[in-house]
Amino acid sequence: MEFDYSKKVKDYQERLNQFMENYIYPNERVYMEQLNEEDRFSSIPPIMEELKQKAKEEGLWNLFLPESEYGARLTNLEYAPLCEIMGRSAMAPEVFNCAAPDTGNMEVLVRYGSKNQKEEWLRPLLDGEIRSCFSMTEPDVASSDATNIKASIVRENDEYIINGTKWWSSGAADPRCKIAIVMGKSDPEAPRHKQQSMILVPLDTPGVTVKRPLPVFGYDHAPHGHAEIEYNDVRVPASNMLLGEGRGFEIAQGRLGPGRIHHCMRTIGAAERALELLCRRAQDREAFGRKLAEQGVIREWIADARINIEQARLLTLKAAYMMDTVGNKEAKAEISMIKVVAPNMALEIIDRAIQTFGAAGVSDDYPLASSWANIRTLRLADGPDEVHRRTIAKQELKKYQ
Ligand SMILES: Cc1cc2nc3c(=O)[nH]c(=O)nc-3n(C[C@H](O)[C@H](O)[C@H](O)COP(=O)(O)OP(=O)(O)OC[C@H]3O[C@@H](n4cnc5c(N)ncnc54)[C@H](O)[C@@H]3O)c2cc1C
Repeated sequence: MEFDYSKKVKDYQERLNQFMENYIYPNERVYMEQLNEEDRFSSIPPIMEELKQKAKEEGLWNLFLPESEYGARLTNLEYAPLCEIMGRSAMAPEVFNCAAPDTGNMEVLVRYGSKNQKEEWLRPLLDGEIRSCFSMTEPDVASSDATNIKASIVRENDEYIINGTKWWSSGAADPRCKIAIVMGKSDPEAPRHKQQSMILVPLDTPGVTVKRPLPVFGYDHAPHGHAEIEYNDVRVPASNMLLGEGRGFEIAQGRLGPGRIHHCMRTIGAAERALELLCRRAQDREAFGRKLAEQGVIREWIADARINIEQARLLTLKAAYMMDTVGNKEAKAEISMIKVVAPNMALEIIDRAIQTFGAAGVSDDYPLASSWANIRTLRLADGPDEVHRRTIAKQELKKYQ
């Protein structure tokens, strides 16, 4: 594994960092103010569309999608340090059309979509004209075990009928969200991992009700939102099935690898920003006759933060390298490892940054409190820590069987 970034990556890093300095950080507050001017879930802050246009013009668009004709033809390893930069700001990934869950959904369409599905849904997603959601988790079953999913997908002539309640479908509350990838059971009698299918459901189909956005520690994450959705006798054409009946698990595995590593890359960016804020604050602020930065305990936090970020980054890069070289399936354990390491590492650093800021740290004058709340969800979303540890242990034990 090569430790230095290529010339191409360094060039992208420079351009992205410039864009962040010039347009993202100065507009974080503008975005929030514009969001508060209207109903938070029914309009999109104009600054977002302006910045998307600018990013597109500057060629900082769709940088994910490893080695695909649709993306910037970057490998996972090349994309990692770029995604990290975007992770420094909650609004940035969308500006570059690299935000979850659209990235994961676009990957699904690229890999498994038919020609027509690509034309109808992938194209507008790649252009940033619409958004999408992924509807797997259900309130009534332990959804960390996807075989528990109960929603039904039943074939009737040329259509499928979908019934079920989903929640935490991120992005579904956004007025631009037009399409859901829904996971459900198409054959409850089939072998355990062949019972599930994934199907495309336009959100304006009769029978689809977006019931409410669920808050995260009180943050509504508008206009995106994490929605509870009811699918009640929803009929879609049979051609909306992805890949084929009974292949939902296969798609879930293909989707979750890249989705998880992207979360980790962004999380490292959030940790870097928290550390930067911590250092600046500690150098500015004086208590008991000296700068906070001169207190041993704060220095220890800073040193630990640097050590832990570097460790997490190296492991993330290794996982990305493995995805590129031996494939997502073979990289399963490494992906699980970083999925546990990155959020826990970042949460500790953000918490210490909050502590260094005093009461200001828990306010919304600084991005620390919202960043902590956001990253805390990553110990659950895309698989809880315990489930990833289970995967790692299983792989480890296999060596000795
Ligand atoms: C902000 C946010 C966004 C989300 N976005 C989406 C989305 O877009 N689409 C979507 O479908 N879902 C989404 N989710 C849902 C998320 O993926 C699920 O919450 C997650 O898979 C866990 O499922 P569950 O909540 O049903 O928890 P459960 O399955 O009920 O698990 C509860 C707890 O049980 C423990 N546990 C489970 N299995 C084991 C085990 N094997 N060993 C030890 N302990 C175990 C863990 O501590 C776990 O946290 C999102 C969640 C959040 C918080």
